[in-house]
Parts: sequence; structure tokens; C-alpha cells
Amino acid sequence: MTTSKNLYLNKPQLQAELDRCLNCKNQPCMNACPVNCNPQEFINHAKNGNYKEAVKTITRTNPMGQTCGLICPDKFCMKACTRSRIDFAINIPKVQATILENYREKDETEETVKQYNGKNIAVVGAGPAGMSAASALARHGYKITIYEASGEIGGALKMIPKSRLPHEVIEKDWDFIRHKGLITLQLKFSVSNPHQLLENGFDGVIVASGEPNCTALNIEGEKDALSFMDYLGNPQKYQNAENVAVIGGGCVAVDCAFTARSNGAKNVEMFVRRKLSDMKITRTEYMELIDQKIDVTTMTSPVKIEPGNGKLSLYTCKNYFEDDRLLPLPDTTIERKGFDLIIKAIGSFADRQNDTDKIIYAGDCKHGGSTIVEAIASGQTAAKILHEKLSDFESEPLKAANM
Ligand SMILES: Cc1cc2nc3c(=O)[nH]c(=O)nc-3n(C[C@H](O)[C@H](O)[C@H](O)COP(=O)(O)OP(=O)(O)OC[C@H]3O[C@@H](n4cnc5c(N)ncnc54)[C@H](O)[C@@H]3O)c2cc1C
Ligand code: SF4
Repeated sequence: MTTSKNLYLNKPQLQAELDRCLNCKNQPCMNACPVNCNPQEFINHAKNGNYKEAVKTITRTNPMGQTCGLICPDKFCMKACTRSRIDFAINIPKVQATILENYREKDETEETVKQYNGKNIAVVGAGPAGMSAASALARHGYKITIYEASGEIGGALKMIPKSRLPHEVIEKDWDFIRHKGLITLQLKFSVSNPHQLLENGFDGVIVASGEPNCTALNIEGEKDALSFMDYLGNPQKYQNAENVAVIGGGCVAVDCAFTARSNGAKNVEMFVRRKLSDMKITRTEYMELIDQKIDVTTMTSPVKIEPGNGKLSLYTCKNYFEDDRLLPLPDTTIERKGFDLIIKAIGSFADRQNDTDKIIYAGDCKHGGSTIVEAIASGQTAAKILHEKLSDFESEPLKAANM
């Protein structure tokens, strides 16, 4: 299992990664990044030993650069990296996280802060979308109040196992966002009606409330399955579970499986509707599934959950493809006995709302379950839209890529 020890590169590893950069003319890595981060630029600064500029380059476009660097999937900059077609992609996210971990200094982003412009914005939700929107707006002089329903910042990031993302890293990024002075955080404050915030005097509202509901399996006995939110929110509560089934094949399901394993489960089995190659997980996660001896039963759907003798049975059937349609294969239902815990992790959802003139939605509550970097980009875009709506014609518009 990944431990915090190898989350960052050591000095020779960092140097080796920096040296592998080809300085590609049209910067495919930057073009593939949802926040337009410029790896070529920060790699060049780092190569020249100018880490202060490398840090500035990263934080110019990404206020949560260290958190993002630890968990960003390999489908953006790494997939586009020219080196991936020669040998293997430069581990750009890890380089980024390492530079920020080792070389960021407290006053790094202070200079980008503007004076208070007299306008106040409320942000609902302190996940990556809300934090990045707040950071972008503070750079243009707005006073921001972030309202967060739970007792801590980070949103869905808090469900990621600490072995992949030590939670103090989120706090570190937050320190640099909060450092801007214009941002106030109110924890344990749930906003039920964003319109009320406008009536209370805010000039605009950004809602970045994520996806609070777990997608249902819609099968008999579903009440005996645990949602991934309930499980990952408090895994200690389930330390006695020896045989664990996880239903789902994405990165959240994989995190449930890894967490169950580190929680002491003897057998962990994932049930996945489609093929192994359809699983939306990273190469590292594939490798870890093997390393941790987690069974993955593919082309299989749950049919029913049934309790008995203190255990749970999971009835499953096989699937097959007809053209591109996934269908249940008749007469293949079997009973899998003896689970202590069945976790459902097939997705999440929110009730979608439309933007109004002064209320802009951002992140997963707007676009559906995504990734940290897409949520950050969405928060920046929402900030740009709100800023443009609230600005006079002469005001300088926010630039999404440069906030
Ligand atoms: C287990 C797990 C693993 C993941 N792994 C990865 C990964 O490896 N890489 C990756 O890129 N992405 C990963 N993601 C996805 C990523 O975490 C999300 O895409 C991202 O956090 C979405 O950001 P957000 O700000 O839109 O919403 P969220 O992070 O969900 O934040 C929403 C916040 O709003 C608050 N809120 C909700 N309603 C209200 C209200 N009414 N009033 C006040 N506050 C409210 C919530 O408490 C929450 O803090 C993972 C997600 C999960 C669940
Ligand atoms: S694509 Fe890869 S090799 Fe090319 S500039 Fe970006 S990081 Fe360097």
C-alpha cells in the first residue's frame, strides 16, 4: 500500500524527472490541464534552481497545487506528455507536489492580493471548487465568506484515504488561500437557501456544494448496503468487517477497497458491471489492486442483498455486451455468502440548479462527479462569470487561466 513516505520525490528523483523534460514547443502538458497550469515553465525554473519562480508558476493558476499534485489522475498532463510516447510520462503532478512541499514560503502569494473593492461574496461549500472560487475572487479584492456545512474544509477530499492524501496537505494549501486576508470561513454553517444570502446583503453567491447523495443500486435489500460516504467518513466504525464487498468500479470504489484492506479486512472483493479495462482508475490504482490482493469480479451486477446468520449474501448476475449495450446474462444469478459489509460506490448526485444573475454554481454540484482539478477550474470559471457580472464595463475582467 502507498504510504506517506513515497508521496513526494526525493532530490535525485526530482532532478531525474526535471531532466527528462523535452521543453516541447507547443506545451501539450499545459494544454491538457483544466486550470492551464504550465509544467514546462515550472520545470524550467526548477531546473535552473529558481524554485521561488517555480512555486509562483504553480500557484498562479492552481491555489490547491499541492493537494492536486498528490491526487490528480494521469489522464490530463501526463497523458499528453510527449515523453509518454518515448518511454513514460513525466510524473508532473508529483513534481508539482514536491516543489510546493519543499520550496513554498509563507508570503508566496501575498503580492497578488488586491485592496478590498467594497463588494462581498458568499461561497457555499469549502471543497476544491469553493476554495478556488474564493481564491480567485480575493485576488480581485472581493471579501469572501465561505459557509461550510461540516466541521472541516476539503469537501469530498476528506474521504480520500490519508495514505494517498494526508489531510494536513489540504490545510497547507488552505493556509495560502486564507493568507490573502479577505477570506473568512464559517464552519458548521449549512446554507439552505442561497437567495437568502443575497437578501442578507451579499453582492453575489457561488454555490459549490458538491454531490451529497449516493447513487442507489435499486435492488432488493439495498438498505443493508452502506454508502461509500458513510463508510469513508468513518471507517474505524467498521474495523470488525472481515469480508467486504464493494460495488462499483471507479476511484471511489477503489478507495473503499483500499480502506477496507487497511482496516484489517481479510477478503475484499469488488463487483464491477463492465470490463476491467473500462474501470476509470489510474495505472497506480490498478497496480495497487494487485499489490493488495483485492479481487475484482468484472462484468457482474448486484441483484439482491439478503441478511442471514449475522452475515450478508450478495446475489449477482453476469453481464454481456450486445452492440454497445450492457445486458444481464439470463440464468447466471448466484448467491455469494458471508459478507460482513457491502459498500455501494457507484456514484453520487446532486439536485441540479441553474445559474441566476447573482448565483453561480460550480464544481461537482454543477458538472457531476469529476476530479479535483476540474472542480478547481470550475470554481475559477464561476468566479470569472460572477466578477464579470458584478464589474463595471471598465473593470478588468478575471482571466480564468491566470487567477
Ligand atoms: C473517495 C473519493 C476519492 C476521490 N479521489 C479523487 C482523486 O484521486 N483524484 C481526483 O482528482 N478527484 C478525486 N475525487 C473527486 C474530488 O474529490 C471531487 O471531484 C471534488 O472534491 C469536488 O469538489 P467540489 O468542491 O465541487 O465538491 P465537494 O468536494 O464535494 O465539496 C462540497 C462542500 O460543500 C459542503 N456543503 C454541501 N452543502 C452545503 C450547504 N448547504 N451549506 C454549506 N456547505 C455545504 C460540503 O460539506 C462539502 O464540504 C474523489 C472523491 C471521493 C469521494
Ligand atoms: S509535454 Fe512533457 S516533456 Fe513536453 S514540456 Fe510538457 S512535461 Fe516537458
